[in-house]
Amino acid sequence: MKVLGIETSCDETAAAVVERLPDGSGRILSDIILSQPDHADFGGVVPEIAARAHVEALDGLIQAAMAGANIGFGDLDAVAATAGPGLIGGVIVGLTTAKAVAVASGRPLVAVNHLEGHALTARYTDRLAFPYLLLLVSGGHTQFVAVEGVGRYRRLGTTIDDALGEAFDKAAKLLGLGYPGGPAVEAAAKSGDGDRFALPRPLRGRPEPNFSLSGLKTALRLAAEKIAPLSDQDVADLAASFQAAVTDTVADRSAKAMALFASQHPDLNDRALVIAGGVAANQAIRDTLTHEAANHGFRLVAPPQRLCADNAVMIAWAGAERLALGLTDPLDAPARPRWPLDELAAPVLGAGA
Ligand code: ATP
Ligand code: MG
Ligand code: FE
Repeated sequence: MKVLGIETSCDETAAAVVERLPDGSGRILSDIILSQPDHADFGGVVPEIAARAHVEALDGLIQAAMAGANIGFGDLDAVAATAGPGLIGGVIVGLTTAKAVAVASGRPLVAVNHLEGHALTARYTDRLAFPYLLLLVSGGHTQFVAVEGVGRYRRLGTTIDDALGEAFDKAAKLLGLGYPGGPAVEAAAKSGDGDRFALPRPLRGRPEPNFSLSGLKTALRLAAEKIAPLSDQDVADLAASFQAAVTDTVADRSAKAMALFASQHPDLNDRALVIAGGVAANQAIRDTLTHEAANHGFRLVAPPQRLCADNAVMIAWAGAERLALGLTDPLDAPARPRWPLDELAAPVLGAGA
């Protein structure tokens, strides 16, 4: 089955066509992402600018995705779009466009939860079987989720303040490294000394796999203020020390999450920890988690970076997984600014296995 996917929940406008085969494998027929450049000047995404840019770009992007896949709308089996969570203006643009394409082509609509897109990507890249443990780390979310099936998610832990990506973005802003912050901090950290500043590892050792990142952000600010004005080397050392604190924290919190997940699935042989979301692009975090997972009898599954950040392949793929279970949505499916993963309607019992 072939599914067109549309993603407009933040500052990427994206369209892709994915084919899912009956054996559960898939292939990308086209994959187009347009990152909006205009937000850097503001140090963050401006919702109104983002929504307007989605309106201007989306029609052309969909045409390009269809042309790239070398198919017509009549060849589609469904049209999938992010229906939330995200910036509501952008979500409405993508979802409404998907509804129009669905009506015009007589194909069903799949209203996809953006987080489910991140959560199911590893099913496409690694043909992963349920259940698995997911660490979702993005600009808006930081959580451990037990992925039991399509539409069947249990949140094991979350952040009690900032998201991990948000912490990277704030650290970058503080260090004058620009936006988006994650890649900038990672690049600066490469030439820095991660041991120079002793920054906290919040919640270290606590049994519940939660995160808290606002204290770390404050500690970074105080360390920077103490030695201001900052040389390039100071900035690199602060970035490296911040990244080291984050990496240690992710490892410690993941250890607790893996122990919890393993205790809930005592008979599971192939235990996988999947990392997804924009922060999953961070190589230091990937390297640390590879070791940490192995130490706990898990293997780390990290999709390629292009599929970790926001993209439309993951939306098309999640749409295809839902369609394969007969889960389509009515044309009045709402756009939802907030939509926790564990509030998704689950398919009939057993269907997600
Ligand atoms: P959500 O998925 O929660 O709605 P979002 O879609 O904005 O939020 P993503 O696009 O998945 O989030 O991820 C963007 C975030 O990832 C940004 O905060 C960015 O700084 C962070 N990020 C990207 N690359 C890296 C990196 N190499 N290291 C650390 N963080 C990174
Ligand atoms: Mg984004
Ligand atoms: Fe995302």
